[in-house]
Amino acid sequence: MARSNQVKPAVTTVSGSYTSNVFEAPITLDDETANIYLTHLRKYVSRKFCYHSDAAAEAKIIKVIGRVAFKIDIWTLIEKRWIKSISSPYKNEETPGKTVENLFDEEIYNLKADTTVVQGNQIGHIILPETQKKISCTACRGEGKKPCGSCKGVVDQNLKPCSKCNSSGYLSCSKCLTSGNILQRNEMHCKRYTLHSLTYPKNIFLPDECIEKSNGKIEFFEDDVLYEGESFWSNFDSLESRIKEDSPHDFRNVIEKQFKDNHLSKMNKSTRIRRMKCKIQRLDLFEIDYQAGDYTNKANTQKGPNVFTFLLYGHDIKNKPEIFENDYPLNSCGCFGHGCACRSKCCSIS
Ligand SMILES: [Zn+2]
Ligand SMILES: [Zn+2]
Repeated sequence: MARSNQVKPAVTTVSGSYTSNVFEAPITLDDETANIYLTHLRKYVSRKFCYHSDAAAEAKIIKVIGRVAFKIDIWTLIEKRWIKSISSPYKNEETPGKTVENLFDEEIYNLKADTTVVQGNQIGHIILPETQKKISCTACRGEGKKPCGSCKGVVDQNLKPCSKCNSSGYLSCSKCLTSGNILQRNEMHCKRYTLHSLTYPKNIFLPDECIEKSNGKIEFFEDDVLYEGESFWSNFDSLESRIKEDSPHDFRNVIEKQFKDNHLSKMNKSTRIRRMKCKIQRLDLFEIDYQAGDYTNKANTQKGPNVFTFLLYGHDIKNKPEIFENDYPLNSCGCFGHGCACRSKCCSIS
């Protein structure tokens, strides 16, 4: 009678989106490398409290495929711009009276922006003297003076003189300081902040947090540029061809969606993207299929009833690799404590 697993393997998280074989690159394996991989698996199993080593002891590697995962950071520097109108008494200033056409025209309203990532909100403004115009003072109807509120402008020689207006009947207008006119000009105000988004595209079932934590990521791309347009690729000259040529996994649609959903869609009439930064890190992995005696895989039968898989990756893949798997045959996943991940008679969960 064939042995069967005594304990339930962990539920697998393999998803359909990672099953594309387009970029599959099987690796021919020599015995020495196979033994190194198996040693890593056995060390990994022995460190796991609720895993039993029997299956790992019998493991035989049947296939190795190169896989890849990425961490993509996108930052955008967002600018909100608005106009504030400022009034002051008119004092013979020049009044070109120009109107503000397009607030976001960088040639006219050039605010320096050197970097995409800023802390918190940055605020600032520029005065626009070309918008200065002269308007009649509404407080005094352009007369520069207003009737005295105290004596109502009635000057009676027989009464006490009015102390407010010195019995002139009028008070100077405090708004226009007697000129009868107001100078109006615009200021452009600006608030800046950074939006950030993160995705982990991959052609294998490694969880995002493993990609995040791994010390094996290497730089694939990084640039910080002035924003050119809504097409993501127009902002980063070489990136699209870089992905097509150098990446075994085509994640262009992921990056486009990331940009659209987390950055472009957050814009409105008063905001614009001013700068963009993109950083992409790459993590190379081995997807290693193995058989372990006649143990059957109850978690994931996609590759056949007797095939199990672990992923090997990390900074130093030869000596200190990181491992991820979720279908090891003798895994009690910690539910039943030490001693359950075994084939002893007291443990018959299957
Ligand atoms: Zn006035
Ligand atoms: Zn008065």
